[in-house]
Amino acid sequence: MSEEEKETKEQEEEVVKEVKDEDERAKEVVAKKQVNIDGWVPKTNIGRKVQDGKITDINELLDKGINILEPEIIETLLPEMKTELLLIGQSKGKFGGGQRRIFRQTQKKTKEGNKPKFATIAVIGNKNGFVGVGYGKSRETVPAREKALRNAKLNLIKISRGCGSWQCTCKDAHSIPFAVKGKCGSVQLKLMPAPKGTGLCIEPECAKILELAGIKDIWSKTKGKTKSKAKLIMACEKALLSLIHTKKQEEHNKTLNLVEGKDKGE
Ligand SMILES: [Zn+2]
Repeated sequence: MSEEEKETKEQEEEVVKEVKDEDERAKEVVAKKQVNIDGWVPKTNIGRKVQDGKITDINELLDKGINILEPEIIETLLPEMKTELLLIGQSKGKFGGGQRRIFRQTQKKTKEGNKPKFATIAVIGNKNGFVGVGYGKSRETVPAREKALRNAKLNLIKISRGCGSWQCTCKDAHSIPFAVKGKCGSVQLKLMPAPKGTGLCIEPECAKILELAGIKDIWSKTKGKTKSKAKLIMACEKALLSLIHTKKQEEHNKTLNLVEGKDKGE
């Protein structure tokens, strides 16, 4: 091996290390991030009402379909939220190439050279009926992460849980009440209720979303190019959204053990 080859090898190894460090740093920052709403000056009417304590329940906002424009509103109303970044990208190169990364890196060719951009997806949830998925993209990794976190908070949705499995005779809301479908691009995802003890039989990144939403057992089926993770995740989000948008008849509420949003029994 000539010296030049050695040098390039060392350089590549350094790059791989940097990439790994960056991912770990992003994970640590998100895990340690403490909610700080002391110095918050609300800009919207809803924000002022939340700070004054006139609105204390998140359902008041979500049921009416009110647009939430400040992430601090969610932080005040649901302080026990947990955050996670999903692996939507891949690292490049020979060494450690192909490994899953938090940031999806894309490039634009210009006269000045290649201009990279970083995209990531953040999930936020309280493991009890509320979940949000946010997409963020920027020229640097840190603003991309911040954008994703902000969007996840603003895109918060309420989901309904239940037990729609005919193999299960329990009275808990551990799965979903009925099968739902979601689609994004070529990816089609179907979520089906499963009996107790099944676990989350789904792709790992989608499992993270369902876990933060508070669903414990599920079966799934996919179609299309599920390798494009961003689309698969968005399909999962759309499927979860149709859980609350489906009209339900009152007589079914008991047989399905339907719970919308927070489970008060827990
Ligand atoms: Zn059950």
